[in-house]
Amino acid sequence: MKAITVFCGSREGSDPVYMREAYQLGKAMAERELTLVYGGAGIGCMRAMADGVLDHGGKVIGVMPEKLANRERSYRRLTDLRIVADMPTRKKVMMQEGDAFIAFPGGLGTLEEWFEVYSWAKIGYHDKPCCLLNINGYYDSLLALFGHMIEADFAPEDYLSGIVHDTDSKRLIDKIHQR
Ligand code: AMP
Repeated sequence: MKAITVFCGSREGSDPVYMREAYQLGKAMAERELTLVYGGAGIGCMRAMADGVLDHGGKVIGVMPEKLANRERSYRRLTDLRIVADMPTRKKVMMQEGDAFIAFPGGLGTLEEWFEVYSWAKIGYHDKPCCLLNINGYYDSLLALFGHMIEADFAPEDYLSGIVHDTDSKRLIDKIHQR
């Protein structure tokens, strides 16, 4: 495995743990020589994660749609900043470049992008691990929702068991390697 795509909040979150853990995830990736692929923003947890990689000698590919480049302050510090035409192109590149996908805590954009890759895995478009980094219990309610979906028979059991998740970034990377 060479690269992991991480979907991640463009905000900092209310608790300093999110910025701290975003940086730690980046650091852990650099230490294991894994390239980070992300949305390319120079704000919020997205920036902290990129800093964690770059401060420890790692590589980062940022993929930013033209329209958002100013608003999200595309991060000029990146090894490889790609300004692309639109959001579908961004998602396509992020899906191609990563060998696994992680959702770090984030908002609508993070969830929308992660759900697309996970639902595409479930219908057989790819076979790359789809993972949640459950910092501070942020994704507890999402995991519970999957349990509810299965209980109500709107999804098969492997929709929950198929998600690789952990509360610690190093352990999560280990689990991805074991897949
Ligand atoms: P957020 O998790 O909402 O902070 O957003 C994280 C990233 O996802 C940002 O770079 C947003 O530009 C992007 N994003 C926001 N909304 C969407 C959306 N509807 N579809 C895809 N990406 C989005």
